[in-house]
Amino acid sequence: MKLLEEIKEPSYQSEPDFISGRTDEIKTYDFDCSSCGVVLKIDFQRQIKYNWNGESDKISKVEVTKLKTHYGIGLSEKAHDGGFPVFDKVTCKGCGHQYVTYCGVREYSNSAFTISVLGIQKIN
Ligand SMILES: [Zn+2]
Repeated sequence: MKLLEEIKEPSYQSEPDFISGRTDEIKTYDFDCSSCGVVLKIDFQRQIKYNWNGESDKISKVEVTKLKTHYGIGLSEKAHDGGFPVFDKVTCKGCGHQYVTYCGVREYSNSAFTISVLGIQKIN
């Protein structure tokens, strides 16, 4: 996996992109494929589902380690928003390019989450 292009960079002051109980109607974070313009989606429920181990079923441990180094996530295992870092992968249906996504997921009360989309990288 090579990191080709930074689509979204982490920031510390961003508001969460999803908040349980407040923005439940928002199911995905959408961004455009930088090659073909097709709209790609980060599924929020997937990020919640995988928040217990920090990586989805589409991404390998080696890739996660590389991404943690890239984003400066140390032994504290804290994402830039203070939550748990969760990594996932999205493939463009238009052209086949792949993207890795980095979200911060916080369980702020029992089974209630905030999600901040912190990073999106085009890879090959
Ligand atoms: Zn594309």
